[in-house]
This record gives sequence, structure tokens and C-alpha cells, in this order.
Amino acid sequence: MWARRCCMKSKFWGVRGSIPTPGRSTIDYGGNTTCIEVVADSGDVYILDAGSGIRELGFNLMALYQGKVAAKVFITHDHWDHIQGFPFFVPAWAPGCKVDVYSGDKDMHRKLNSQNKQSETSFLTLEQITKGDTAILSKDDVRSNHTKSVFEGQQDVDRGYFPVPVKFMGSQLTFHDLKEYQVVQNGLGVSYMYHSAHPGGMFSYKLEEGERKLVFAGDYEHDGSGYGQFGENDKRMIEWAKDAEIFIIDAQYTPEQYEGKAGPPRKGWGHSQIERVCELAAAANVKHLYVTHHEPTHTDATLAKMEQRAKDYMANVLKSDIPVTFAREGMEMHV
Ligand SMILES: [Zn+2]
Ligand SMILES: [Zn+2]
Repeated sequence: MWARRCCMKSKFWGVRGSIPTPGRSTIDYGGNTTCIEVVADSGDVYILDAGSGIRELGFNLMALYQGKVAAKVFITHDHWDHIQGFPFFVPAWAPGCKVDVYSGDKDMHRKLNSQNKQSETSFLTLEQITKGDTAILSKDDVRSNHTKSVFEGQQDVDRGYFPVPVKFMGSQLTFHDLKEYQVVQNGLGVSYMYHSAHPGGMFSYKLEEGERKLVFAGDYEHDGSGYGQFGENDKRMIEWAKDAEIFIIDAQYTPEQYEGKAGPPRKGWGHSQIERVCELAAAANVKHLYVTHHEPTHTDATLAKMEQRAKDYMANVLKSDIPVTFAREGMEMHV
């Protein structure tokens, strides 16, 4: 899979935020939701988030390791775009594989279990619907806005929308609570930082091998208003990412979108705008900034413009030579 095996390597398998966006207008940057593969010098495989990109990664790993995959999966948070690929991650089903799921979130096992749980809700058959039979629905459902309750239910993590429970996944599957800093088996040191700069909270991960560091900030909304004017979350993130070789962070919006000059104001939505993450990267003195969690409505053309704009901002406004790259599916990084 890799050209050489001399250092920690990583690869994007999903770069889109919020929802998968397949189609011709997103084929260049990619439409799968968050998933990043990191391979240690030892060969151990680490996976950051289980968005829809993990599906293709699973096929790739099964072929590469001939059905004997050992992978460690780290989940940042349980928003759907970060866990929705897990039921389609083939190594988790295959008896010859070993999958360890880690999260700083003590409740992650229950949440993944819930995603796979067979729903106990009764559904109308097609025949009942065509006959106008609504007997299975409760009186409240019939009287109230049923579509609304369906959508509310869809976003309720305690209800299941997949037919096979996690307990039937055939791999050696183990769920772990991650300690503050932990060397995970024969490979990388992994630590996490909890931050509240995203609705519901988030765990950022730092992977270290020797002196080399990869920081995946995950979904993140800055709380600063310009270079040197960082809020408390930004200060913590700058300290956390200090001198990292690779710094991967969400910058879903343009400054205009964030401020509400193009569409509704996105302040408080849990995602950053590109100029602020350039400032974070410069203050943290990282070696390379990778921007991910691309806005679902942004086409390849829009993202290419945003990417150039971020490069220009870093070089011309911040006077920094830190490379800025917008993540693309299949893109590899070497640390
Ligand atoms: Zn997200
Ligand atoms: Zn999120």
C-alpha cells in the first residue's frame, strides 16, 4: 500500500463533513465522511474516526493483510458523520480480524451498539400503507406531525437503524476507555484532549512516535478573533498541537460564511473558518496544516478556491511558510 515503510504514515479515506457527498462535483476532493489511517513504524494500523470512508479502507486492509487485519479505531465523537461507516467496516465482521475501538468517551460502546441495534419500532407494511391502515401508529403519531417525529427519531442515538447488532460482528472486537496518555500496544503513543469547541464535546487525538507528532483536532470551532487574539479553546489547541509535524483540523467555512455575509451566520455551529485555522497552525508552529471536514455544499471548484485562499493567507498575511493542504481522499502524509 505504501511506497516505503520508514516512518509513521497516514492517509485520508474520508474528508467530508456532516454527510457523504458522492457525485461528479465532489470527485476530486472526495465525498466520504471522516476517516484517517495512520500506520506506525511497527506496521500497526490506527484509524481515526469511522465515517463512511472507513468502508473502502476496510476492503483495502482485508486485501493487504489477506483477511487477518489488526486495527485500532479511535473515535472523536459520536456525531453520525464520524461513526456511520462502522457497520460497513468489513474487518469488524471477519473472524480472522482483531479490532480495538478506543475513545475518551466512556459511553462509546453503548453508542456504537445503539447504531447497530435492531429497532424495536413497528413499521407499516406497504400493504397497510396503501390501504390507509395506520393502526400500528399510536394516536399521538397520527395526530401529530409524524414526519417530524421520524426525523427526530433518526437523530436519536438510542434508536437503531441497522439490522445486525454489534455482538454479532465476528472479529475479536474490544472497546476500550482511553487513558489520558497511553502507548497502545506495539506502536504509537496516543493521547487525547477533550474540548467543548463543538456541540456535544469532542476528543482530539495526538499520535506520537519518537519525536514525531500527528495531531487530529477533529471537529473544532475557533474562539479567537484574529492572530494573537485567541480564546481559551484556541490557546489549549495551540499548546496541544505545538510543533506537530502534521496538524489536521476542520475548517468548513469561508470567513464570509462564518460571519453570515454569505448565507446564515455559522458562528456556534461547531466548525472553523479557514483564516482562523491558519492562525492556529502558525501559532502552534506546526510543520504542515491539513484542512478537512469539507462543507457538503462545497464543490471541487469551491474547495480549490478556498485552498488557494488559505495558502495565500498563510504566506502573505501571516508571513508563514507553513504548507497548507486541503485534504483529499487517497492523499497520503508522511511524518
Ligand atoms: Zn463532523
Ligand atoms: Zn461533529
